Amino acid sequence: MKTAFIGLGAMGYPMAGHLAREHELVVWNRTADVAERHAREHGSHAAAALEECAAADVIVTILPTSREVDWVVDSVWNRLRPGQLWIDATSGDPVSSRATANRLKERSVAFVDAPVSGGTTGAEQGALTAMIGGSAEDVERSRPVVSAFAKKIFHVGDIGFGHAIKVITNTMMAANIVSATEGLLALKKMGFDLRVALEAVNAVSGRSNVTENLLPRRILDNEWPVTFKLSLHEKDIRIATDILAQQHILAPVTMLVAQLYAAAVDELGPDADYIEMAKFMAALNDDAW
Ligand code: NDP
Repeated sequence: MKTAFIGLGAMGYPMAGHLAREHELVVWNRTADVAERHAREHGSHAAAALEECAAADVIVTILPTSREVDWVVDSVWNRLRPGQLWIDATSGDPVSSRATANRLKERSVAFVDAPVSGGTTGAEQGALTAMIGGSAEDVERSRPVVSAFAKKIFHVGDIGFGHAIKVITNTMMAANIVSATEGLLALKKMGFDLRVALEAVNAVSGRSNVTENLLPRRILDNEWPVTFKLSLHEKDIRIATDILAQQHILAPVTMLVAQLYAAAVDELGPDADYIEMAKFMAALNDDAW
């Protein structure tokens, strides 16, 4: 099966690497050097132009937002063929993805939203979790491609459901980052050794992925790698607030989290790492890690 992969960013580059082992893969990236490096490193073929990707049976996109995905759809529109499958692994917007799917239907091209979770480490290990929205038949068709980079695959519902659950789960994580950071700042001020504090928290009720995996490396070891841009996390939270509003959910905590993240992006810049939110919360309290 001929597959095209569009968007070789922090996630896409390693995901496409796994795909290249199993599929005849053409890759495209806005910054062309990256696609050429991918071809050298993984044996994929770097497309000379984006339109070349439209010749594939399956097209995979993983771009910052649904806006860039729509731009790609427009760019290849005239070359699309009936029977193709579009797998959008972007953490996108369910409203946009339903509109995109309807548009593609005019060309008899199927669409599934298949956002992923597991971070850059999961992407490098080919051990992501994919949450797919779409018809049962299209989700089945997507499995041989998605399973190249995802160990767990959930068919979560209709088109847009994958995007919805992805941004909601990332918003739950955001609230956890804020509340864990607030609590740890208080313990730090009291004179706790944070290593001991985190060890204790991780043995009891406050334990989470944030306290076990994400915060210790940053606040104990002072390593602040950029693996997921703060602005992309903030985008997820914005989409989640739209979903909560559409469903008439009273969500004061999420609204506050959204405001804090928007302020953090203004303060730290779009390319800061998402866990630098802990730095923002410390600075709000005239403190630092
Ligand atoms: P990156 O910023 O690392 O990569 C973005 C990719 O999109 C790059 O290939 C970039 O090309 C391309 N791109 C950006 N703007 C445009 C544009 N206007 N037109 C065409 N291509 C463009 O992002 P990530 O890989 O981190 O994230 C991608 C998606 O995956 C996002 O939706 C994110 O929320 C989600 N995600 C990220 C995770 C993570 O841990 N990083 C985890 C799970 C999901 P170029 O090289 O030219 O800049």
